[in-house]
Amino acid sequence: MTFFGKLKKMMGFSAAQAGRAGETDPIEPSARLLRGRPKVYVLATGGTIAGRLASTGPRYRAGVLGIEALLGAVPALRGLADLSGEQVENIGSQDMDEFVWLKLAHRVNALLADPATDGIVITHGTDTLEETACFLDLTVRSPKPVVLVGAMRPAGSPGADGPTNLLDAVTVAAHPSAAGRGVLVVMHGSLFEARDVAKVSSLSLSAFAAPNAGAVGQLADGRIHYGQRAALSPERLVFDVSGLDRLPAVGIVYGHAGASATPVKALVDAGCRGIVSAGVGSGNVHRDVLAALADASGRGVIVVRASRVAAGLTLRNVEVDDNRFGFVAAGALNPQKARVLLQLALTRTRKAEAIQKMFDEY
Ligand code: GLU
Repeated sequence: MTFFGKLKKMMGFSAAQAGRAGETDPIEPSARLLRGRPKVYVLATGGTIAGRLASTGPRYRAGVLGIEALLGAVPALRGLADLSGEQVENIGSQDMDEFVWLKLAHRVNALLADPATDGIVITHGTDTLEETACFLDLTVRSPKPVVLVGAMRPAGSPGADGPTNLLDAVTVAAHPSAAGRGVLVVMHGSLFEARDVAKVSSLSLSAFAAPNAGAVGQLADGRIHYGQRAALSPERLVFDVSGLDRLPAVGIVYGHAGASATPVKALVDAGCRGIVSAGVGSGNVHRDVLAALADASGRGVIVVRASRVAAGLTLRNVEVDDNRFGFVAAGALNPQKARVLLQLALTRTRKAEAIQKMFDEY
């Protein structure tokens, strides 16, 4: 057994806690172990997890409680890690935008560059949580754990899920076995990778799923129970956003029977540099929309075909001649995540083939 292996054992880290036996932690654990409790930052952005029931008007308001109230409501958190909280925003995530994304990416990269930081939790509204997770997955350079978490019931409501979700998220962010997996999402006892996760219910506590890949683990008894562990890739697609204060404009057009070319034309006229088609089936589009997308592509707008269907893949040249029109196929990414990747890809290139490679790689 190595020195660090012995040290881990002395400190009470079992093989099960650290993942499957024989797996190595991508982060050197010595600093953390010698220091004692892991150092975790909680960056708050709002959402139902910071929401309150209201007596008038709509039933509750998202993004009301501040970070201190959030952390103070769950005293058990202090037993898991040395916590620091920061209020980045306090909004319903329907108002999330690229400016908050860039602020988060800059802060997360700065915090994780500090050897004293072990992990980060980001509290977030559930509506667009998967998009922020995807954006950070593509822009955070460190292998240390970054975990997004939300809640479906506001604080103070019967059966509020925020406290348990927060405890689970800090458990993950504080644990070496969660490193090197990209950005993670914890909701209702399940652990997901950012690339795969999507909101699939607007009501259930189990609001998130990974329709193609499934969860990577479950949280129970304060521990992470991994399912199948994919090989951790040392070569990930990562964009450097340190010098950016905005992203290229990319819009989404939704597919349906009888769809018209009007939304595509409006996006082109508005100066969008990219369009994601949330097509039907395997990313198919109505012939009128296809003509407008082909025209847009001919004018240098990057067109990515995705699908409005929750699971499955949008592959190249199935019913649409992507080669002929210069389109990109989104693969496993849903339209809203395809938009995130396209925005980032356009900061590097305006060539469809190069962008297709990025979609294939992610
Ligand atoms: N619409 C709000 C948001 O996404 C509240 C919903 C939620 O957090 O579940 O922030």
